[in-house]
Amino acid sequence: MIPFRYSAPASVEDAVTMAGEPGSRFLAGGTNIIDLMKMGVEHPSHLIDITRLPIDRIEEHQGGVRLGALTRNTAVAAHRLIRERYPVLSQAILAGASPQIRNMATTGGNLLQRTRCFYFYDPSYSECNKRVPGSGCAALQGNNRIHAILGASDRCIATYPGDMAVALAALDAKVVLRGPRGERSEAMDTFYRLPGDTPNIEHDLLPGEMITAVDLPPVQATGSRYLKVRDRNSFAFALVSVAAMLNIDAAGKITQARFALGGVAPRPWRVPEAEDALRGKIPADSVFRDAADILLRGAKPYRFNGFKVELARRAVVRALASASTRA
Ligand code: SF4
Repeated sequence: MIPFRYSAPASVEDAVTMAGEPGSRFLAGGTNIIDLMKMGVEHPSHLIDITRLPIDRIEEHQGGVRLGALTRNTAVAAHRLIRERYPVLSQAILAGASPQIRNMATTGGNLLQRTRCFYFYDPSYSECNKRVPGSGCAALQGNNRIHAILGASDRCIATYPGDMAVALAALDAKVVLRGPRGERSEAMDTFYRLPGDTPNIEHDLLPGEMITAVDLPPVQATGSRYLKVRDRNSFAFALVSVAAMLNIDAAGKITQARFALGGVAPRPWRVPEAEDALRGKIPADSVFRDAADILLRGAKPYRFNGFKVELARRAVVRALASASTRA
């Protein structure tokens, strides 16, 4: 084992100060960082245990709901405010991981989970630009069945693996961040970076910053659905997932559509033009297919993941059709 220091700060301010030290990592639910340490992928010099910090509440906030960063996934999915106002988020969380992991995993930690690319998780593969910048990408010519078809680069084709963030992107949620320079918030849509030439940089967290909350704005939707397609139903990451919300008026026309794809890109994938294409339309598979085509424009499959393009198209149509008929 590689030695590391352990601290349990008593305040967010202390945690942020400690996190400014290079090589430090936050420990919350521990459902990803501990695995990564055991497998030799991450080796922090300082583990900062934030589980005692008072950022674990779910409360109404500016007409919406604020989720403290340390709220557990199970608690969020089961909370009355979430089930009543944001059912797509509750569905997304319940589609992720096992009950045991959801009991431990936190909102902030869920957002920062790392990709499940096989080569990233196995340091015996020397080529992984995300793990060792400049080393290459074993997935480009390797087993890339689970990899991205959108937003990737020739340096990295890994996907963002989570479910919760896909629903949060469709909900226009904001990530609240606290750092040495104070508090700021960032839209979920732009929080994750595309890999470009630096796939080791995955999001817009500045050195020393921590996620303290996620803000959900008020939402108007007559129906929503989170649809996840995976290799097995019990416990697997998405090959493709869709968070879909529609608002339909009394005349039966769509007044607003929001949908995001998971499992296909380095971040939840949302294209405003695809959503605009549904406005004013009567719900029908044909109009949903047109919107899916816009969402998937530019898709670039690799040797083993070509099936994802049609799978994503069909999943979008099915999720939107379902959102057009249910709350
Ligand atoms: Fe590493 Fe990304 Fe290539 Fe996977 S896809 S091997 S994470 S560089």
